[in-house]
Amino acid sequence: MTGFGTPGFPVLSRILNPLVEGPPYFYFENVASMPKKEWENITRHFDGVEPEFVDSKYFCACRRPRGYVHNLPVEGRKLILPEPPMTVQELLPRTTEYWPSWDPRTKLHCINTRSACNSICSGLRNLLLASDGADPPLDVQKHILKKCSSWNLIWTGPGQLAPLEPHEIELLLGFDEDHTRGASNKTDRIQSLGNSFQINTVAYHLSVLKPLYPTGMRVLSLFSGIGGAEVALHKLGIHLHYVVSVEINQNNKIMVESWWKKSGQRGKLKQLDNITDLTSDVLQDLMEEIGEFDLVIGGSPCNNLSGNNRVSRVGLAGPDSSLFFEFTRVLEDVRKVMHRRKR
Ligand code: SAH
Repeated sequence: MTGFGTPGFPVLSRILNPLVEGPPYFYFENVASMPKKEWENITRHFDGVEPEFVDSKYFCACRRPRGYVHNLPVEGRKLILPEPPMTVQELLPRTTEYWPSWDPRTKLHCINTRSACNSICSGLRNLLLASDGADPPLDVQKHILKKCSSWNLIWTGPGQLAPLEPHEIELLLGFDEDHTRGASNKTDRIQSLGNSFQINTVAYHLSVLKPLYPTGMRVLSLFSGIGGAEVALHKLGIHLHYVVSVEINQNNKIMVESWWKKSGQRGKLKQLDNITDLTSDVLQDLMEEIGEFDLVIGGSPCNNLSGNNRVSRVGLAGPDSSLFFEFTRVLEDVRKVMHRRKR
């Protein structure tokens, strides 16, 4: 799969099959590295639209290689301001004095759904203690750096490593601090953040919608998680006229609802649980009330696709990842209702 988009360079133009031109606009996200052929399979289900591959390291201080399939214009994209910290040292200035010269990291690794357990950090602490303040031998440095990279450990004191805290991950991913606070415990917060959009990256793509919808948008947000799509649109200054958010996890739902209130939204939020319950009939009724959807957006579960899954990386046919097909089914249903109306 070639896809389009060269890391670090802007996409200036592309030719889109007229059959898939919006509205409705669609935007689908998933992990860039999938078992072979799955992006081809996804592209087939989006009428040949190829993914745009982007690593969020060009937008923030952590890696996040993702593919985005969308029918948005690519001309005139803008970044949201203020620009986020672009290095881990800018993100966590208080830790820089503890960062040894032999740790060259300026960007963090892809944010994961799990944190390192205590035994990993204490094992590394013992190795560092054995060097008694001096630089450890090269092979030990290499071992420590490998663990630091795969677990995103940061230096929090002399010879002391620790995993990122949820509020630090929130900032890395472009959310406001405490976005996930209140609805769940630390483990759940880290899991939900590990699955979420990187706001600056997604907002860059979505920024082209702002001049198209000066009075606001009606959005169908599928697999909303902690509301990455909603937050990105809001940070672009796009009024959320109506959002139908489909998310099965109750904690995530609470986080979206609480963000909706905290951010002073004046539009309407409707939350649904299971995407499989969003049948053609339910959708038809919803659209009687809302009118059209301007944007259908979401990233389906990547559990059976992600390289981190060593047990059940069975591809799109997997029990969680097959929910991808619900995204294209719902998109097709939205299109049908909209076409019927135009006739
Ligand atoms: N883009 C989101 C995260 C997507 S991760 C964000 O920015 O946070 C995929 C999400 O799909 C998870 O939050 C998971 O709880 C949800 N999900 C899984 N099965 C679902 C189903 N059957 N119906 C609706 N949502 C589901």
